[in-house]
Amino acid sequence: MRAFKILVLFCLTSIIMGCSVQKNKEIAITEVTKAPVNVILLIGDGMGLSQISILHQEQDNLSAFSRFNYMGLINCSSSSHKITDSAAGATAFASGVKAYNGAIGVNHDSLPVKTILEVLEERQYATGLVSTSSITHATPAAFYAHTTSRNNENDIATQLMASKVDFFAGGGRSFFRTLINRSAESNWVIDTLNYFQFPLEMNQEHRYGFLLSDEGMPKMSEGRGSFCTDASRVAIDFLGKNQEGFFLMIEGSQIDWGGHAKDYSYVQSEMVDFNEVVNMVMDYAEKQKNTLVIVTADHETGGLALTATKKTDSTGRVYNDYDVITGAFNTGTHTAALIPVFAYGPGAENFTGIYQNAGIYGRILKSVQ
Ligand code: MG
Ligand code: ZN
Repeated sequence: MRAFKILVLFCLTSIIMGCSVQKNKEIAITEVTKAPVNVILLIGDGMGLSQISILHQEQDNLSAFSRFNYMGLINCSSSSHKITDSAAGATAFASGVKAYNGAIGVNHDSLPVKTILEVLEERQYATGLVSTSSITHATPAAFYAHTTSRNNENDIATQLMASKVDFFAGGGRSFFRTLINRSAESNWVIDTLNYFQFPLEMNQEHRYGFLLSDEGMPKMSEGRGSFCTDASRVAIDFLGKNQEGFFLMIEGSQIDWGGHAKDYSYVQSEMVDFNEVVNMVMDYAEKQKNTLVIVTADHETGGLALTATKKTDSTGRVYNDYDVITGAFNTGTHTAALIPVFAYGPGAENFTGIYQNAGIYGRILKSVQ
């Protein structure tokens, strides 16, 4: 009898526990499938491993890149050339196809290809773009525009205003002169003055565009200050209000421009700024736990090498000081070096290995499924 009672009790307990386990499982599954995965893609234009290594000269843990647990490498060739430009590079990330140099959101045959922004907008994601160049420049443009040449910046501006993008910040005011007057018709609030220095009243009934210089934003050395971090933070606060998730692309544009200019201190100050932005994004992602962060570049610029510094001793002998780094540029153009990809958050494991730049697109989609 006693044994029977124990058996009944055991069965009952199992059923009750079984039920609660089952219930918890259901809740867990529902939570996993329902929780939207935010995606923040950071592109350091022209940022190869040497550019990143600048940040590691002092102490490894000072670099935001040390906070990522998954890494991969991408081949950045375009459909027309072994060495890509930023237009084809960004088109590959945004649409998953290799295009010709100069192409914005079109494939090798100049046909429009859907961008990750457009795909995620259909899934009710909020979308945003932050850039330290003109917002119509090749890298951001490839995420929302479709045109055969990166030089069509007036057309690109028109396409941005007609797009479903919810937030943008960068330079490029001169391409929007006539568009700004009609912006309210499509719910845009365009701000050409605010440097994010005071609290902003933003609501989901509107879309926000910040155009803070005529073309590119100023260099860090010429007073850009914390624009990129501030704009990115405002973007995350605003887009994060959307229950269905958000996609945000942030570009550190001028790492590339420093490489073209063969100006080491230019590259260095732009890298320090980009590092700040990545740190801010990682603070957010580590707290939220539902945000996939990807940091990569469209290509390397300058063939930058961190070399020993040539010095002359008291006898006039020239020697290499291995303890003092000189940034030496091989070229004023882009190079074909493989580019590192850093990923953190849900789906980050999809970004390991060596693959094509166009593979970023599919890996993002796989991660948000
Ligand atoms: Mg760019
Ligand atoms: Zn470039």
